[in-house]
Amino acid sequence: MMRFQDRRRKRETEEEERTRKYRKKTSRMSWGVCLMGLALLFFYQSNAPSTAAKKTISTVSSAVSSTSAGSSSSVAKSEKADAAALLKAKLAADWRLILVSQQSPLPKDFTVVLTKRSDGFRVDARIEPELQQMISAAAKDGVTLKICSAYRSVSQQEGLYHPERYASGSPVSVQPAGDSEHHTGLALDFITSNYHTLDSGFAKTAAYTWLLKNSWKYGFVLRYPQNKEQTTGVIFEPWHYRYVGKTYAKEMTEKHLCLEEYRQALGI
Ligand SMILES: [Zn+2]
Repeated sequence: MMRFQDRRRKRETEEEERTRKYRKKTSRMSWGVCLMGLALLFFYQSNAPSTAAKKTISTVSSAVSSTSAGSSSSVAKSEKADAAALLKAKLAADWRLILVSQQSPLPKDFTVVLTKRSDGFRVDARIEPELQQMISAAAKDGVTLKICSAYRSVSQQEGLYHPERYASGSPVSVQPAGDSEHHTGLALDFITSNYHTLDSGFAKTAAYTWLLKNSWKYGFVLRYPQNKEQTTGVIFEPWHYRYVGKTYAKEMTEKHLCLEEYRQALGI
């Protein structure tokens, strides 16, 4: 028969064992919570630019509409107007939304950090990862996207420009030096394995169909769509894509807005 003290010691040992297991479990749970917290923080930070941009767009829209709708308090009204002006200024300064066209030539002080790709073409270094992801994703779907023009300096553009075509006033394809979006390093012209010409025939290729369906997922939009020639001042160019970033590309695609229309909608 077990003595009273032995029984007590056994109970104490069992109690200690339970406490030890509980502490171990609690410690494991705390680590789990910590790791989950870190993962959430990382997820938020890695998505911060697009989330912030999305918030900015909706905030601008609501700020603009509420400002125009009027407010009972003049102080609140002026604060809202200030906030809207600030957000508009931020959007106007967003490099992804830069507009370079006949009406909006490249700013004189424009600079860009370029990266040279393995195919020899140069692009804005910030867009290279998504550009490569898009080309690889197309290849996985059996579609070849081959760049045939990317960044062009002002002097390179001079060699392509034909003033006699430009003077007619109708939408054109090649703009004068300084007016081309290719100076930004954000624009690309694509050809594909079975079509090597930059003309309307590219719209019949699998590459064009793929780009229309998927380019926005990588931050690119068809820059000069059909039936927008009067707004863009450029003919339908099924081969020319422009990086605007995923958030803007998604919204522009969903709303069928070209860059000029989208900027106008944002009030910039
Ligand atoms: Zn182009």
